[in-house]
Amino acid sequence: MTPPDEALPREQAVAAIRRLDALGLNRGSTGNLSLRCARGGRPGLLITPTGMGADDLRAQDMVWMGEDGAVEGEWLPSSEWHFHRAVLQRRADVQAVVHTHSVHATALACLERPLPAFHYMVAVAGVSTVPCTPYHTFGSEALSLAVADALQDGNACLMAHHGLVAAAPSLAQAMKIAIEIESLCEVYLKALAVGEPATLSAAQMAEVLHKFSGYGRSRRA
Ligand SMILES: [Zn+2]
Repeated sequence: MTPPDEALPREQAVAAIRRLDALGLNRGSTGNLSLRCARGGRPGLLITPTGMGADDLRAQDMVWMGEDGAVEGEWLPSSEWHFHRAVLQRRADVQAVVHTHSVHATALACLERPLPAFHYMVAVAGVSTVPCTPYHTFGSEALSLAVADALQDGNACLMAHHGLVAAAPSLAQAMKIAIEIESLCEVYLKALAVGEPATLSAAQMAEVLHKFSGYGRSRRA
């Protein structure tokens, strides 16, 4: 039986996976996401089950995992649960982690290149450059550590020869960051095809980061 306080996060997770699918970022069942979610006072997370496509995923299929790795649910968690848990453990402010193998972010990650400050919107990740971690096998402790380190200061990173991770204080924000970074990677690759794009200065990015720090949905007074 699903505890009632998990109903909303489960529905939100399914809606988010379907949106990634509709946007072409999910690519089969390779996208996965997690949300912080306590159960009966025990800290833990909800994560997408392994190998299940967006069309088949139902709210009750989301897997609950305790901080100790104990799993409760019908299905096995995504094989990439290790870095989800590592990020949520490292960053107390993060509520949700979104991961995709979306084409353009993954293409840049296969070049082992970070996404530099070639466009002011890179600051959506909360940093001037979206880093690219070294390659490690999926599901490994080494990859978990590398991702947690890469997300220490910012809210997005590329994983070499693998894909993209976004983390944020809400699922909606993590989704926004993942979608924006994928789009920026597409633009960056197009620019790279012609030449090396110029980058904004540290001062220019600091100004944008400052503006973004108070940015969000705001009603007119
Ligand atoms: Zn992956």
